[in-house]
Amino acid sequence: MAEAVSVSNGAADRKDRPGDLARAALSASGGPVRISILGATGSIGKSTLDLVGHHPEKFDVVALTAQCNARRLAELAITHRAKIAVIGEEAHYDELKSLLSGTGIRAAAGAAAIEAAALEPADCVMAAIVGAAGLRPTFAAARQGSRVALANKECLVCAGDIFLREVEQHGAELLPVDSEHSAAFQSIGQTPGRSIEKIILTASGGPFRTFDKERLSRVTPEEALKHPNWSMGAKVTIDSATLMNKGLELIEAFHLFPVGAHQLEAIVHPQSVVHCLVMLEDGSVMAQLSQPDMRTPIALALAWPERLATPVSRLDLVTLGSLSFEAPDLDRFPALGTAIEALRRGGAAPAVLNAANEIAVTAFLERRIGFLEIASTVASCLEKAEAGGLFNGVDTLDDVLAVDGEARNMARMMLPG
Ligand code: NAD
Ligand code: MG
Repeated sequence: MAEAVSVSNGAADRKDRPGDLARAALSASGGPVRISILGATGSIGKSTLDLVGHHPEKFDVVALTAQCNARRLAELAITHRAKIAVIGEEAHYDELKSLLSGTGIRAAAGAAAIEAAALEPADCVMAAIVGAAGLRPTFAAARQGSRVALANKECLVCAGDIFLREVEQHGAELLPVDSEHSAAFQSIGQTPGRSIEKIILTASGGPFRTFDKERLSRVTPEEALKHPNWSMGAKVTIDSATLMNKGLELIEAFHLFPVGAHQLEAIVHPQSVVHCLVMLEDGSVMAQLSQPDMRTPIALALAWPERLATPVSRLDLVTLGSLSFEAPDLDRFPALGTAIEALRRGGAAPAVLNAANEIAVTAFLERRIGFLEIASTVASCLEKAEAGGLFNGVDTLDDVLAVDGEARNMARMMLPG
């Protein structure tokens, strides 16, 4: 572990955050949990609804949202007897309305309607919109004041302190959904923050773990979308292949747990069975193990402090035989190093990192740039943003969204097409 990539001590260090995220039982009454799902048609949305479908007596679905697939959204809303279905793209409103006619399910459309859905009274909101597009709706979920099951990592990456303030001000409860952070949350338990020496997030290494740079320069979007262990949406799958995902997750962990940036590390673990390791001052290392299936961390976020039975296949360590770990190679996967630098810089740097990465990943998926240019575009954009003074003065969500917009324009101008 000595060779694991760690975040060097920097301006971002603070140890004053509380260690316990969730405070109370979700459904104190013992009745069904009222749940809304933002991003219901995505990979996390699908896994969440799979669990809801396994325990129909335990959940009442309030609102489901999606961006453009009205047909799928209507099917899900009808199957799970939702009260409200919201489509982001207004052009699909008529289709959604007609698909839901006679069902009693209310249809709505547009970005403001998605935020309104997040504010509908519910016990739990699953925030699973991908990208910075999820910021406003996830903030709305926090303002609603109940549990936010947080899959949208971009919210903490781009606006960590501002989002956590919002959660606190509105008495909301934050439960991490990202598997590594769910594992850290469980491994930390009641341990006081001062006893934690290190939090080590594991990364699968993605489909190109063993490729040299020459091979990396030729990989296609199809190859990059074939993750060896996890089934996820396109954006997070590409981020896993570049290791940017692990960088975003280090920033996410910095905001969630009571450690300084220098106490966060990333190591490669190709089997994706150990999701996180928490090293304590007495030499103990706490870890959480499970199959690489998001239904396990989602179940925890929905049921904590209780547990929810899942149909996930059980871990069989004898069949697995061995677990291996190695240091990430920042020369072949520089996106991780760039993300660590953005965490060290703090301020708006992580928001710039995320925006540039979203633009570069789209360009790669559209075959306008090669795989290695994702990381180089993000690094150039960060340099340019710093030189232009874009890292300073982000105090509100609007400030963050303004930086996000500027960084996107900057990245677009660097790319062909
Ligand atoms: P996905 O692409 O499969 O689904 C995204 C969902 O968001 C869809 O329902 C889509 O309709 C909706 N959406 C997209 N753009 C939108 C917009 N502009 N406005 C409103 N809604 C929009 O993504 P995913 O893989 O489910 O990931 C969702 C989030 O969870 C991401 O932040 C990702 O990093 C995080 N996450 C995912 C996984 C995973 O296994 N998929 C694991 C950990 C964390
Ligand atoms: Mg993860």
